[in-house]
Amino acid sequence: MYQKFGICRQVLDYGLSVESGLKERFLAIDENAEYNQMKVIQAMQKARVSDIHFAATTGYGYNDLGRDVLEEVYALAFHGESALVRPQLISGTHALHVALSGNLRPGDELLSPVGKPYDTLEEVIGIRDSVGSLKEYGVRYRQVDLLPDGSFDWEGIRKAVNDKTKLVTIQRSKGYATRPTLSVKQIGELIAFVKGIKPDVICMVDNCYGEFVERMEPTDVGADMIVGSLIKNPGGGLAPIGGYIVGRKDCIDRASYRLSAPGLGKEVGASLGLNQSFFQGLFLAPTVVAGALKGAIFAANIYERLGFEVVPNSQESRHDIIQAVTFRTPEGVIAFCQGIQAAAPVDSFVTPEPWDMPGYDAPVIMAAGAFVQGSSIELSADGPIKEPYAVYFQGGLTWYHAKLGVLMSLQKLKDAGLVKWNEN
Ligand SMILES: *Cc1c(COP(=O)(O)O)cnc(C)c1O
Repeated sequence: MYQKFGICRQVLDYGLSVESGLKERFLAIDENAEYNQMKVIQAMQKARVSDIHFAATTGYGYNDLGRDVLEEVYALAFHGESALVRPQLISGTHALHVALSGNLRPGDELLSPVGKPYDTLEEVIGIRDSVGSLKEYGVRYRQVDLLPDGSFDWEGIRKAVNDKTKLVTIQRSKGYATRPTLSVKQIGELIAFVKGIKPDVICMVDNCYGEFVERMEPTDVGADMIVGSLIKNPGGGLAPIGGYIVGRKDCIDRASYRLSAPGLGKEVGASLGLNQSFFQGLFLAPTVVAGALKGAIFAANIYERLGFEVVPNSQESRHDIIQAVTFRTPEGVIAFCQGIQAAAPVDSFVTPEPWDMPGYDAPVIMAAGAFVQGSSIELSADGPIKEPYAVYFQGGLTWYHAKLGVLMSLQKLKDAGLVKWNEN
């Protein structure tokens, strides 16, 4: 079958030899998925999910039982007091904006102790001047970078926390940076340190791409809010839109007054018939994340042995589903993305090209042959066309699709003369 996709013998044999060395790691991933599957089922049983909760509401959405139970399930599964899980949260960036702007007031300071946040948040915060940013509303921003070895700058963080510091934002995943992703344990240490300096500071974790990768979530180690996108991990590939915020009740309430309006909060917001896909997507998410993780580890092992720098490397433990591969040339990034596209079930016949996307400061190439536009729990790859020319690869609703995508990417690089095979 692989040969019918244009994958040559050499690429296939190499891929199979890499895969045969990954059995133990794949087993550990399956065991985590099994644990997280139980966690989700238990939450659904506790909340007494029933088929009445799949019914659609319209208009104001008063008494939307399905919406309320869905939020209870998220709160139970992620161990928070309350949750906001809505199709009206358009994306991860929007959910983060709602969580931040709902909980910050003029004169407050926002601190990122883990370096520069995800590109789209630069405009939300006002790191890059932008109309409507938190900066325009009088919220100041401070940042403490990670040390060159990727560890926390404890001394710098201690100095940065002051009486104005209201909220600390911690990004779990690397995003478009080549720093390491934080483990839940590391996030817990950071939160304990910050709360040791200032107990009433709100610790928010941008949990994008991290859900169900480990057995614990940041809410298990002291996070007041975790925030993410439903077209990433927790939507399980079925959610067609949406975002979530889970955590402390007062934080979620404040976010809800920003999402709808002061006085309305969580009481309004029709679910428009999307509840079933949200429930079912969450139910599938642990196994979908497992497939995506296998794909990421497979890609790391494939490209590392060919001499490319990969983050995380082939051996490291995983804390999100992202795999960065540094090609050092625009052609490498483009060939990789074109290979991912060519393996897709949808739009496999189109050729992705770099373009100026809103929210990003360099042209970005994106490969996505997805059932849901922009869904990155589905097999996808993207890379900003700037130094160091790294591609970020993630997703795959099944391991078999992720494997095909990685093999196709390698085939495209080989066809373009961009790989040296001397190690094989
Ligand atoms: C994806 C992502 C976001 C939000 O992105 P959207 O495309 O708006 O959903 C924020 N932070 C991180 C780390 C992400 O990976």
